[in-house]
Amino acid sequence: MLEKIVIANRGEIALRVLRACHTLGIRTVAVHSTADRNLKHVGMADEAICIGPAPSTDSYLNIPRIIAAAEVTDAQAIHPGYGFLSENADFAERVEKSGFIFIGPTAPVIRLMGDKVEAIRAMRAAGVPCVPGSGGPLGDDVVANTKIAREIGYPVIIKAAGGGGGRGMRVVHTEGHLSSAIQMTKSEAKAAFGNGEVYMEKYLENPRHIEIQVLADGQGNAIHLGERDCSMQRRHQKVVEEAPAPGITPEQRAQIGEVCVEACKRIGYRGAGTFEFLYENGRFYFIEMNTRIQVEHPVTELVTGVDLVREQLLVAGGEKLSIRQSDVVLNGHAIECRVNAEDPDTFLPSPGTVKRFESPGGPGVRVDTHIYDGYRIPPNYDSMIGKLIVHGRDRATAIARMRIALSEMVIEGVKSNIPLQQRIMADGGFQSGGQNIHYLEKRMAEMREKAIGLG
Ligand code: ADP
Repeated sequence: MLEKIVIANRGEIALRVLRACHTLGIRTVAVHSTADRNLKHVGMADEAICIGPAPSTDSYLNIPRIIAAAEVTDAQAIHPGYGFLSENADFAERVEKSGFIFIGPTAPVIRLMGDKVEAIRAMRAAGVPCVPGSGGPLGDDVVANTKIAREIGYPVIIKAAGGGGGRGMRVVHTEGHLSSAIQMTKSEAKAAFGNGEVYMEKYLENPRHIEIQVLADGQGNAIHLGERDCSMQRRHQKVVEEAPAPGITPEQRAQIGEVCVEACKRIGYRGAGTFEFLYENGRFYFIEMNTRIQVEHPVTELVTGVDLVREQLLVAGGEKLSIRQSDVVLNGHAIECRVNAEDPDTFLPSPGTVKRFESPGGPGVRVDTHIYDGYRIPPNYDSMIGKLIVHGRDRATAIARMRIALSEMVIEGVKSNIPLQQRIMADGGFQSGGQNIHYLEKRMAEMREKAIGLG
């Protein structure tokens, strides 16, 4: 069992990890930038170390300083949270080489999944259904590329092997645009990710985003914890997530879950992870794996009763998984609304001082946030300031609870996206469930038009 760890992150996820540690009796070291001295978890941690100035390149992405913090505090392990260094294989490797435990999978597994071409190849070999595609990187041979695209069928999407965050992708509808699109994506990918390799996939026109949560101990045991539906997106960024996904049957869940579990065993996966799929016409298509805890993990926690961060810590401490697949029983429905400090209409970030914060409550309501009255949101980081998560016996109950909770949540001093979340919860299309990844943007455009028409 771990005794002391460094939390190499900030905001709500740092607080989430700290809470899991303290429930297990694990002592915590918070590392923070100069802009983050007033973060809630920094005050709650057993020790706190300032690792650099506000820009994340100088602090939360500064590998030597984070490792030094583990050294001077005599910690055993480092939890990377999400974002920042959480999927950086070099970081994981340097952590382990310095004699600490990286709370996540091994560096080779992170590296494999970080290269999308290699990840898809490995997943295909493991029997995971993938989007029909080139099956490897694209060369410069125009005839060969044209042949691949014809076989797949238009529209196709050109994607960067090293891409992430919804960037490095280009949709091609006709043969005339293929070669230029490949060239452009290659040079953009080279500039943005330092890796010019691109590949081709069938472009699915109206898919849903459905992902499978897994847990593995790296000692041969792995389970899945069902799925999450994250189709409510804006610019490929998730806005609302829920579990289970509307309309997915227990048979479908068991089948795709089992495929992911087998893949975990095959690659020697360790820790918590997520297999992301596009889902169209009743079929799953793997797009990528996230080798870390995700923002939306709480919806899975609420329907399964499993504390995923606790499990990450136990597995990292060398314990075998104590939960069997048959122990995982889904109960009710959970929804998460991401709360961002941003203008609900223009989406511009709105940093500044939170003059007043009132947290909602009541049955089935969970608030994961680091903000408090008087907290100053620095302009240097992501605009997400918390997550409101609700649970109910069924989806309608969860939506009703979310609507009340959103109305109870008071954030003064900065703008937030709560009004947008309220519009989503009140929307008939969302309420009927099972919308595709384009739905939210389409609805928002319609609402804007209507507002202009009425004005
Ligand atoms: P990233 O790592 O940048 O998030 P992903 O491969 O996960 O990249 O894709 C991000 C999003 O791009 C998906 O959620 C989906 O909206 C869209 N997308 C990716 N591949 C396809 C595809 N083959 N067809 C349709 N949409 C896709």
